Amino acid sequence: MSNPAVIGLTGGIGSGKSTVAKMFGALGVHWVDADIVAREVVEPGTPALGKIAEHFGAEILQDDGQLDRAALRTIVFKDPNEREWLESLLHPTIRDELARQLQPENYHLPYVLLVSPLLLETDQHTLASRAIVVDVPVETQIERTMSRDNNDRDQVERIIAAQMPREHRLGRADHIIRNDRPLPEVEQQVQELHQQLLDICRD
Ligand code: ADP
Repeated sequence: MSNPAVIGLTGGIGSGKSTVAKMFGALGVHWVDADIVAREVVEPGTPALGKIAEHFGAEILQDDGQLDRAALRTIVFKDPNEREWLESLLHPTIRDELARQLQPENYHLPYVLLVSPLLLETDQHTLASRAIVVDVPVETQIERTMSRDNNDRDQVERIIAAQMPREHRLGRADHIIRNDRPLPEVEQQVQELHQQLLDICRD
């Protein structure tokens, strides 16, 4: 079989990306989570963490050698140049690692999924031939994120405001999963889309 097609799966915070990805996983679909990869590329011993420590100084590391994310966030929040420096290091590193993990050693389906909140905001979308958007109304997004992460409404609203607006994201979708309904109905949509993707990607 030739390389599997890469299908992007995205959505705002709390829209249900992980929930939907697990449903595809239950159908045997291989998927890679960009949030996990983003953490893996800065684990102790990685070249990216070495460059970050060199640039920002050792105070950016915790005692156990892990990246101090909160300290790094504070720096780049205050200084757009530092943010740019960091993104120009991390985005290509993450993209390369995603590309590597999207080539499973053994696969039997004609497509794999790239699950990423930043699929459409970064050049990650160039790895994917189609995009699935998991969509819920903003109020649902806020309520679900608050109860999952124990965040207050202000925090969640700030995160949503920093992400791509809902209508814009939907405008870039090739497929939409409506997740403002009971899970069995979402599962039904996933099964139908899975069949559709098998047909499209086999050609
Ligand atoms: P994301 O990965 O996009 O941030 P999650 O998959 O973690 O979102 O979903 C956010 C929260 O909403 C989780 O606690 C999840 O269990 C819950 N959730 C997701 N889909 C549904 C649904 N259809 N009905 C009820 N709760 C849901």
